[in-house]
Amino acid sequence: MPSFEIVRGDITRFPAEAIVNAANRYLEHGGGVAYAIAKAAAGNVDEYIRISKDAMKKQLGKSSIEHGEVVVTPPMRLEKFGIKYVIHTVGPYCGGKWDEDKKGKLRKAILGALRKAEELGVKTIAFPAISAGIYGCPLEEVVRTFKEVVEGFSKGARSVEKVYLVLYSGDAYRTALSVFGLNR
Ligand code: ADP
Repeated sequence: MPSFEIVRGDITRFPAEAIVNAANRYLEHGGGVAYAIAKAAAGNVDEYIRISKDAMKKQLGKSSIEHGEVVVTPPMRLEKFGIKYVIHTVGPYCGGKWDEDKKGKLRKAILGALRKAEELGVKTIAFPAISAGIYGCPLEEVVRTFKEVVEGFSKGARSVEKVYLVLYSGDAYRTALSVFGLNR
């Protein structure tokens, strides 16, 4: 059963075997964590967008992805941190709102990446707070959903031992901990 841990850090240099990107459905990597990953991995963001779109065509046979579908790209320069795969997944757009539909889409996005991690046989996977940035979903709800999905996934896990939720800012980190009743 994988354990779930909330950490503060930069996912572009987080030493997990797989890191997850909070992508948009066209894998354009225009801002936020997607841009940061593309820049850190390839040096050139357009280059990583091209690689991502090629991978999407090969892996899914189409040019956009739905919630729950994922695309895997190589780590390129991130290999030096022990990262082997970047798994792109798409969370819901919230614009400050939250409901069961958005929660369902976020669950799918998280679960899709966890299943892919199992398929790839990785032991550790790190997620950013999918949809809690530009897509405007409430961070507390995002953290709660992560916890539920990882707990629910436990039975299906053979390979994945550790799931990290990586928060970038100190504020986000403290908010995430408070969801668990922890304070640091
Ligand atoms: P979305 O469009 O899914 O909301 P964003 O990239 O805007 O995605 O944000 C998702 C989360 O990732 C936000 O909480 C943002 O602060 C965080 N983030 C941005 N850069 C990094 C990074 N380098 N490492 C980890 N998290 C990051």
